[in-house]
Amino acid sequence: MSIQARVIDGKALSAQVLDEVREDVHALAVQHIYPALAVVLIGQDPASEVYVRNKLLRAKDVGIRSLEHRLPQDISQQQVLQLLARLNADPSVNGILVQLPLPAHINEQAVIQAIAPIKDVDGFHRENVGGLVQGGDVLTPCTPSGCMRLLYETCGDLSGLHAVVIGRSNIVGKPMASLLLQANCTVSVVHSRSVDAPALCRMADIVVAAVGKPQMIDACWLKPGAVVIDVGINRIATASGHRLVGDVDYESASSVASAITPVPGGVGPMTIAYLLKNTLIASERQRAQRPISYPTVG
Ligand code: NDP
Repeated sequence: MSIQARVIDGKALSAQVLDEVREDVHALAVQHIYPALAVVLIGQDPASEVYVRNKLLRAKDVGIRSLEHRLPQDISQQQVLQLLARLNADPSVNGILVQLPLPAHINEQAVIQAIAPIKDVDGFHRENVGGLVQGGDVLTPCTPSGCMRLLYETCGDLSGLHAVVIGRSNIVGKPMASLLLQANCTVSVVHSRSVDAPALCRMADIVVAAVGKPQMIDACWLKPGAVVIDVGINRIATASGHRLVGDVDYESASSVASAITPVPGGVGPMTIAYLLKNTLIASERQRAQRPISYPTVG
């Protein structure tokens, strides 16, 4: 018997997360506190332009101030680091995001590590990565955080479930595996050198696909009733132009899975919602760290 999977609606859930953020931002505004996110975009990569535009629009929508820094493609690494040093030192800036990928002449790690960990709303700085692995209370990468919220809403308690993460990148696969482990899942990470990836996947109650290969995972990879989170965003050509598809073959997987995220409208909107949630968390932590000024006596 074929199952018609339930659609996990990331658009609707992200609207709920954004409502939570908006409410908190309004409560802070009453105290004259205005969280701000600095977004640094280098060059004119069309996909990055779209991502940044969406992030800025959503920030405005929830009342978070955004400060846009558009830098030319040929800017030097030194100049980028100087800008980051200024943003780190500016108390009115709570979150810093540098849109990736960077031009080839700029070292990505040098830039990521130059962001103050407490303002690192992408959660890519070593301090935050290490803290995540150790189960600490740190800023966690937005896409995996969004995926976890989708999973909690879909499955409830994740304890004891077997999760297979396909992909081991620093921005999705690895932090996703850490978060699932923290949620007491049994976690397997599948990558390009894994032997018989489909067989490993068929053991999973939860499959998180972050590969970057259009529609690679179909029904044959899935155990009946598995929950599928498709992180992939791939642009494929069609007769009338192009369309976006995930790493999962949605039609095929839907006949076996119990629940599945669509592309678009699944993980994508959750990523932006968690970026803004992280900005709020960063701003709260910075306020908590600020030295308390006592009234002078006498
Ligand atoms: P990367 O290219 O950095 O990583 C891809 C991973 O997939 C690698 O670990 C690679 O293995 C693995 N892989 C490649 N081929 C296979 C294969 N045949 N079998 C098993 N594993 C394989 O990609 P990202 O993690 O950055 O992104 C993945 C996808 O998610 C992309 O489509 C991207 O656009 C999308 N994305 C979506 C976001 C959202 O908000 N929805 C946010 C970020 C990314 P190995 O390490 O061995 O090379």
